Amino acid sequence: MDNMRVLVTGGAGFVGSHLCERLLGQGHDVVCLDNFFTGSRENVRRLVGNSHFELVRHDVNQPIIVEVDRIFHLACPASPIHYQRNPVRTIRTCVQGTLNVLEMAREIHARLLIASTSEVYGDPDQHPQTEEYWGHVNPIGPRACYDEGKRCAEALTVSYATQFATEIRIARIFNTFGPRMHKADGRVVTNFVVQALNNEPITLFGDGEQTRSFCYVDDTVSGLMKLMELNEDPGPVNIGNPREMTIREVAEMIAKLTGSTADIQSRPLPVDDPKRRCPDISKAKRLLDWEPQVRMEDGLVKVIEYMRAVLAADSVRS
Ligand code: NAD
Ligand code: UDP
Repeated sequence: MDNMRVLVTGGAGFVGSHLCERLLGQGHDVVCLDNFFTGSRENVRRLVGNSHFELVRHDVNQPIIVEVDRIFHLACPASPIHYQRNPVRTIRTCVQGTLNVLEMAREIHARLLIASTSEVYGDPDQHPQTEEYWGHVNPIGPRACYDEGKRCAEALTVSYATQFATEIRIARIFNTFGPRMHKADGRVVTNFVVQALNNEPITLFGDGEQTRSFCYVDDTVSGLMKLMELNEDPGPVNIGNPREMTIREVAEMIAKLTGSTADIQSRPLPVDDPKRRCPDISKAKRLLDWEPQVRMEDGLVKVIEYMRAVLAADSVRS
């Protein structure tokens, strides 16, 4: 895409900070908007000072207008422990926050991409999940604030396209991992890497036979950027890695890569934990000419290196 002004909400978070970096690298002017709920200035520290980068502290639950050509709307806590900490706020961010961003897009005629999630499929009874699948979501369970919030965000977004001809794109992102995940986000890759580096027991929830499919953050960001620049709205598009693994396999892979000899410890499976998750990415392959390039093992090496540095810095401070 030609040089543009691009807004990234949630730009100081894990995925958002990588996206800001890539957009700057392509010569765009980037406005990063964040309230630092789960993200941090540290994540974008290297970008501050670049004359093409602006950092704005703002809560998307309050209206705002920033004059840009493109909006990537990522602002929302994403890990179960973060989004379940204040479920009402999570729903408000998904619904009111998305509404505010849609109003901005409508007002300034910007194209808007929203970061939706594989959680819209819930605990799926179709496998792998295609975009046509409507999902199997518990509307009153502990994950509902996020799952139903994101489903409502999709419904709102599609309604703006229908009613006001707002230009929209919907990315359904599957589990993404990489450097700058928050060390205490409770997500599986973070937990296992931190535990393994500390030589503490690895906490395996349930029997570990549940599956996920992990996409390295650089691949996810490429998918989001390609989807944004597609000329027409193709409807929701799955962005994820189709290599499906059991969580036990993930534990064993991380133990091997870190050299940890600590035990694997069983813990209860959280309520409504999806049993299987794997994207069907035929649509992304066909329309975006995109598919993940980074192997899980290679991505994990980078996460391990990153977390080792974070833990070392913590121990110097304490
Ligand atoms: P993250 O928590 O690292 O980033 C979210 C960012 O949004 C943070 O910087 C946070 O401070 C900010 N934020 C939260 N509420 C806000 C508000 N009200 N106003 C302004 N900023 C706010 O999470 P992430 O993993 O980078 O996820 C980014 C987006 O991608 C989220 O919308 C998430 O739902 C979606 N997603 C992520 C994954 C994944 O595996 N990482 C999977 C599916 C979907
Ligand atoms: N999980 C685990 N141990 C942990 C953290 C997570 O076994 O310390 C499991 C969790 O039960 C789930 C999978 O790993 O089956 C992925 O969990 P995560 O919270 O990373 O993402 P999500 O469930 O939202 O896909």
